[in-house]
Amino acid sequence: MTTSQAVGNVCTISALTTNKQETINSVDGNVIYLPGTDCVIKSQASLSAFTSYRVGGGAELYVAPRNLEALQASIKYAKELALPVTILGAGSNLLVSDQGIPGLVIATRHFRSKHFDQQTGQLTVAAGESIPSLAWEAADLGWQGLEWAVGIPGTVGGAVVMNAGAHNSCIEDMLVSAEVLSPDGTLETLTPAELGYKYRTSLLQGGKRIVTQATFQLQPGADPALVIATTKQHKKHRLSTQPYNFPSCGSVFRNPNPYSAGWLIEQAGLKGYQIGGAQVALLHANFIVNRGGAKASDIFCLISHIQREVQERWSIWLEPEVKMIGEFQPVCL
Ligand SMILES: Cc1cc2nc3c(=O)[nH]c(=O)nc-3n(C[C@H](O)[C@H](O)[C@H](O)COP(=O)(O)OP(=O)(O)OC[C@H]3O[C@@H](n4cnc5c(N)ncnc54)[C@H](O)[C@@H]3O)c2cc1C
Repeated sequence: MTTSQAVGNVCTISALTTNKQETINSVDGNVIYLPGTDCVIKSQASLSAFTSYRVGGGAELYVAPRNLEALQASIKYAKELALPVTILGAGSNLLVSDQGIPGLVIATRHFRSKHFDQQTGQLTVAAGESIPSLAWEAADLGWQGLEWAVGIPGTVGGAVVMNAGAHNSCIEDMLVSAEVLSPDGTLETLTPAELGYKYRTSLLQGGKRIVTQATFQLQPGADPALVIATTKQHKKHRLSTQPYNFPSCGSVFRNPNPYSAGWLIEQAGLKGYQIGGAQVALLHANFIVNRGGAKASDIFCLISHIQREVQERWSIWLEPEVKMIGEFQPVCL
């Protein structure tokens, strides 16, 4: 469908020359099309369905491009309207404010493609591919190297940005290169050294560059049954030690070396502590779970409460691993 065919939902090219407010008001039926593409831009799109916490308000504008051209068009659109841009992967490490997010949210989850290169043992994947699905696919092929990642419910893009890890392995160990799109529209291929990886962090965090694809070094040629068994074992271990039965973002805080954040929180007597629908998980104290009907503000206030209590008991200030986006009231009653 072209923009001109999208009768009733058309955001004409000329809208780009108007100011932001006029453009948003030109939305008919809450849907407009990204000029020159068939990408729908939704206005006030609820983000709770797109985050693993299942909380949060809406995106002022939301688009989910499927390819590089549409991504570039999305960035150009935001630039011309001076809209702030937020990148969303699977939303499994995000706490979105109840007030939502201003500007354009670009979701990369529909960026899909993958290639297992038998010659080199390299897997090249688009940013929107699911990490656990890749772990299972690699296992089915008898490729070792991704077994550890089976319990991480994010996308390739999010994992590269977060330097996701588990079971003593992380993205940094296996990444050959990442392709990133700069705000000026140019593509760069960066090595792990250029990404400045440290524990659960990279230079891409808080920046404006977008991961479009990544290449990982794996080890083909193993017996699929063995790789599947190890992958299953990791999944089983996580299911028995972490609360996968309620919405969460995984570990809320970084482990403050040499301590485990979960242990510090548990020793502070906070397991089971609840604010609204948000609870410190009984199974793992570094998880905050949404027991039903939680607001983002409940989770935010629980995070603040944990920080204060742990500081008082241990003189350690826990740094959140979860990314909080949008506005949060600094004072919790
Ligand atoms: C039950 C559960 C278990 C978890 N276990 C683990 C674990 O064992 N280890 C671990 O490391 N994490 C874990 N996590 C956290 C989370 O899954 C990881 O951090 C994951 O890598 C986030 O990926 P995502 O696609 O969901 O990113 P999002 O949560 O959508 O985004 C995270 C950050 O990356 C940015 N981003 C996302 N995609 C892109 C892109 N393409 N380009 C540029 N920026 C981007 C976002 O703007 C944001 O700042 C867990 C989460 C849950 C819910």
